Amino acid sequence: MEKKIVEKCTANIYFDKDVEIKIIKNKTIGVIGYGNQGRAEALNLRDSELNVIIGNIEDDYKKLAEKDGFKVYSIAEATKKSDIIMILIPDEIQGEVFNQDIIPNLRKNMVINFATGYNIAFQDITNLKPPDFVDVIMVAPRMIGVGVRETYLNGEGFYSFIAVYQDASGNAKQILLELAKALGTTKKGAIETTFYQEAVLDLFTEQAFGPAFGQVLSNSIKCLIEAGYPPEAVFVELYMSGELSFTIKEMAETGIIKQMDFHSPTSQYGSLTRGANFIDLPLMEKMQRGLKQIESGKFAKEWARVQKKGMKSLGTLKESAKKYFINSYEKIIRKKLKLD
Ligand code: NDP
Repeated sequence: MEKKIVEKCTANIYFDKDVEIKIIKNKTIGVIGYGNQGRAEALNLRDSELNVIIGNIEDDYKKLAEKDGFKVYSIAEATKKSDIIMILIPDEIQGEVFNQDIIPNLRKNMVINFATGYNIAFQDITNLKPPDFVDVIMVAPRMIGVGVRETYLNGEGFYSFIAVYQDASGNAKQILLELAKALGTTKKGAIETTFYQEAVLDLFTEQAFGPAFGQVLSNSIKCLIEAGYPPEAVFVELYMSGELSFTIKEMAETGIIKQMDFHSPTSQYGSLTRGANFIDLPLMEKMQRGLKQIESGKFAKEWARVQKKGMKSLGTLKESAKKYFINSYEKIIRKKLKLD
């Protein structure tokens, strides 16, 4: 069994000691978009003593970048002035901005770094096709922007998935690793994947794991309220106390089974004996179906159609989610708990 698992776990994981920053020391890095990820990555790269400029549209983010001491240019201008560009604008507009402002200003052997694999993995649908004379790489943080910055500052680092899609210069992998180190991710661990694997994993978490967990939560709430338990107590018990997020943090840091030691013997015995009741939940087939839809590009095609129509159906879906019974209870309970 152990041998079989070892045979499956073949991904390269890079740490600080594996990388020396050499090539990117004398390069200009253009951070395109100064939002959640953009600001965090720009500050980290600058603190790693690299030369960073910003490309942004005229807006409050531009003012913030200037206030943070960066030189800010238009996206086209920043691309012209850079050797490496970090694409950190929202995924939905990357194709358009790329074709209009970035592609015309690319030079041979420039490097384009993405923070997610989606637009390249499904490029026949998203229409984002970098020319073949540039390197295309990815450092995709498994962390929100604020965390990318905070864990750089406290020396903890953050996990990321890294990949080379196109190696025009012959140095793409080395540049990828150097950028990963400068961003702070090799402090924790940069795991090598492909763009496609990163995109599929991300979508699977959002479309299968997340919703399945949501169903576990809403069924638990329904079951307990129908049995007459006070909704205020039910909501706090199941997730509002924040205890769950501590448990999940411990699962990540200590291990799923090991963290059980932090719970009472009653809790341990109850979970281990009753856990078996849920083993045959009909989840696998639904998860596999969800995964196939992602892998085949069916989801990406549907999402591209929705975006073309101005994302109207996303608005409708969000409105109907507000009518879900959990939301109605939450409104009242959050007020009573003085959370709103
Ligand atoms: P944000 O929405 O926070 O910021 C995007 C930046 O792009 C802002 O400066 C924004 O300015 C600018 N922008 C928005 N619209 C346009 C436009 N039409 N033309 C030019 N610039 C525009 O994005 P994120 O930081 O969340 O995401 C950036 C990338 O990082 C994405 O690829 C995402 O998948 C990836 N990523 C994000 C994570 C996260 O936690 N947020 C985690 C890991 C990866 P303004 O809003 O003023 O228009």
